[in-house]
Amino acid sequence: MTDKIELTNLSKEELTSEIVKIGEKAFRAKQLWQWIYFRGVTDFNEMSNLSLALRQKLQENFTITRPKIVAEQISIDKTHKWLLEFKDGERVEMVYIPEKDRGAVCISTQVGCAMGCRFCHTGSQKFTRNLSVSEIVGQFMVARDAYGEWPSPTDEVRYLSNIVVMGMGEPLNNLDNVVKALNIITDSEGIALSRRRVTMSTSGIAPRIVEAMQRTGVRLAVSLHAPNNTIRSQIMPINDKFRIEEIMKACAEYQKGEHSRYITFEYLLLKGINDSLDHAKELINLLKKYKLRALFNLIPFNPWPGCDFAPSDKKTVEAFSKALDDAGFAAPVRVARGQDILAACGQLKSKKTQA
Ligand code: SAH
Ligand code: SF4
Repeated sequence: MTDKIELTNLSKEELTSEIVKIGEKAFRAKQLWQWIYFRGVTDFNEMSNLSLALRQKLQENFTITRPKIVAEQISIDKTHKWLLEFKDGERVEMVYIPEKDRGAVCISTQVGCAMGCRFCHTGSQKFTRNLSVSEIVGQFMVARDAYGEWPSPTDEVRYLSNIVVMGMGEPLNNLDNVVKALNIITDSEGIALSRRRVTMSTSGIAPRIVEAMQRTGVRLAVSLHAPNNTIRSQIMPINDKFRIEEIMKACAEYQKGEHSRYITFEYLLLKGINDSLDHAKELINLLKKYKLRALFNLIPFNPWPGCDFAPSDKKTVEAFSKALDDAGFAAPVRVARGQDILAACGQLKSKKTQA
């Protein structure tokens, strides 16, 4: 017997062609899509507008799978972290960061990460594999299951209102699956999350930035973290391959497009490394040179066991933020959430021993 096809790996077009292949009319695919992505149903038997015979046929041919929750923790600030396991036993972490009446889910795109950024816990473990479309979409579905957010609510009343692709992995190194997954999540007949509410963060894989943004239409965040190549290469080995100038040019190219939006530059403040006022000035000059519509997101460093860096002190962070602000670049400091459960940015890992 051939393996059953996992439906959450398929685009709407692919799902339709699979339904036609088993001898059904195309409109059945639309019904199925709504059950899976609008109602969040995982059991074919619950699809009450499909005949019993069809439900059985679907069961024989297809699966609808969620990643398995192997552990979860909720921080004192209500940040929720899950350790999720896939069929082959590989694991990733996912985080939900609630605000008053909305919240962002931070999803992963790879098991481990090949970029090896020195400040990042994920980067300290080796790259294992890319996540499939189903494994990416499935993360958000698990979060929606947990908060009972089915059927898809209107934009105004969503508790899980945003997605940040800022978990484990470099999304642009798994671009085809990430694009397909985000297009499923933002499809108007299913989960229907607005593209404006999805932000994809990259360490700066310059040649893929424009393509990634054109294929997804989501918001772009770039992990810059340094005002020049010398410092950036010290903390991000990928900078030896894609230099700051190349990243800036790609960003400028993206902003020529008609649907482009503001770019967020993430800047991690590392004590004594990249946090002086001279560094801030250099950064301002860099941004001005490329005439980008941009804002900063200053990230306090989140330490993890065995890391080599320390967070900048509060006064330094404030001065850095003010310098950027005075130069016309909004530069809010990100409030670290979920630190007591190691759920903050850059702290995610998936060692099998940790559960
Ligand atoms: N790989 C992508 C997206 C995942 S990392 C990227 O690098 O952009 C998400 C964000 O967390 C990035 O801006 C990353 O630089 C930041 N980050 C990594 N380690 C961190 C740490 N220890 N403390 C705070 N932020 C960290
Ligand atoms: Fe990978 Fe992003 Fe971590 Fe760098 S910061 S190692 S690119 S996940």
